Amino acid sequence: MLQLDSIHFAYGQTPVLDDISLQAEPGAVTCLVGPSGCGKSTLLRLAAGLLAVQQGEIHIDGRSVAAPGVHVPPEDRSVGLVFQEGALFPHLTAGDNIRFGLRDATESGRADELIRMTDLEGLEGRYPHELSGGQRQRVALARALAPRPKVLLFDEPYANLDQALRRQLRAATRRLVAELGTVAVFVTHDSDDISELADTVVAMHDGRVVQRGSPRALFDHPEHPSVARMYGQAQRIGGSKSGDVVKTAFGDWPSDCLAIPGVADGPLDLLVRPDGLALSTDADGNAVTKLRVSGADDLVAVRGDDDTVIMVRVARPHSLTTGSRVSVAPLHHRVFPDVAS
Ligand code: ADP
Repeated sequence: MLQLDSIHFAYGQTPVLDDISLQAEPGAVTCLVGPSGCGKSTLLRLAAGLLAVQQGEIHIDGRSVAAPGVHVPPEDRSVGLVFQEGALFPHLTAGDNIRFGLRDATESGRADELIRMTDLEGLEGRYPHELSGGQRQRVALARALAPRPKVLLFDEPYANLDQALRRQLRAATRRLVAELGTVAVFVTHDSDDISELADTVVAMHDGRVVQRGSPRALFDHPEHPSVARMYGQAQRIGGSKSGDVVKTAFGDWPSDCLAIPGVADGPLDLLVRPDGLALSTDADGNAVTKLRVSGADDLVAVRGDDDTVIMVRVARPHSLTTGSRVSVAPLHHRVFPDVAS
C-alpha cells in the first residue's frame, strides 16, 4: 500500500499542497484528478522521491520512505514512473529499453513476459522512432514494470494519444495492475481516464483534497464545483436564487434542483450538464437552434432569454426540430452551484 499522511509542500514561499492524505491499494487504480496547477504532479514527485517531503510522511508497504529528515532515494522506493511521451532511450531498441529496467540481467524471461503482456511481440528489435505513439507508451509501461515495483505512478501518460489508443492503453493498464497486484496512482484531468480506469478517485483543488470516492459517486454527487466541472460537459449559466426559486434565462427553476443545499439567496453561477435537463414542447418556451447526433441521443441546443445557448441530451426518437419551442426543466439535484471555486 502507498500511504501519504498530512503532506504539506511549498515551492519557496508558495504553498502548493495543504494537508493531503491518501491511501492507494494494490491491484487497483487510484486516479488523482483536478485542474491544471492544483498540485497533482508535485504530489506524485514527492511519492516518487524526486522531491523531499517538508511536512508529513509517506509509507510504501508499511515502510517510512519520506518525512522531514527522512528521504529514501527514488531507486530504493520500489516505485516505477510512466510519464508522457519521450521517456524512452532513443538509442535502445524496445526490448533493450525494457531490459534496462530489470534489476538483474539474468531475468530476461521477465522481459519476454512483459513484452507478451503488453502485446509488443515482434516489435522488440525496433527503435522508439520506429514505433507508434501507443506502442512507445506500452514499452514505457513494460519498462516501468520490469523491476517489479510495488507502486506505479503515472503522470498523464496518454494525454497526447488519440481516443482509440487511449482506450487500449487504459485497458492494458488496468489488466496489468490487477494481474501484478501493483499500487497504481494515475494523474489525469481527462474524465474518460477516470471512468475507464479508476477504482477510486481523489479529486484535488488548489492543493487540497476536495472529494474522494468511486467514479460514479463523484459523477453523481460532486461535492465541489471543480468536480462538477470535470465531468459530463458541464455548461455554466447565470442564475439568481430567491427562496424556493432559481431564476435563469431558461425559466424559473425550483431551488431543489440544486445539488448542494443551503446556497445563499442572490446571484450565482450554475453548472448544468446536457443530461441534467429535460425538454417539453411549449409554444411560449425557448427556441431550439440546432440538433446534433450524439450516440443514441441527440444534443439539442436551446437559446435562453439572454441569448446564451445550452445543450440538452434528448433520446431519439423525438419530435423536436430547429425552431421548435420548448420549456427547459432541471432534474432534481442535477444543477451544481458554481460557488467557492
Ligand atoms: P498539476 O500537476 O496539478 O498541474 P503541479 O504540481 O505541476 O500541478 O503544480 C502545482 C503548482 O506549483 C503550480 O502553481 C505550479 O506553477 C507550481 N510549481 C510546479 N513546479 C514548480 C517548481 N519547480 N517551482 C515553483 N513552482 C512550481
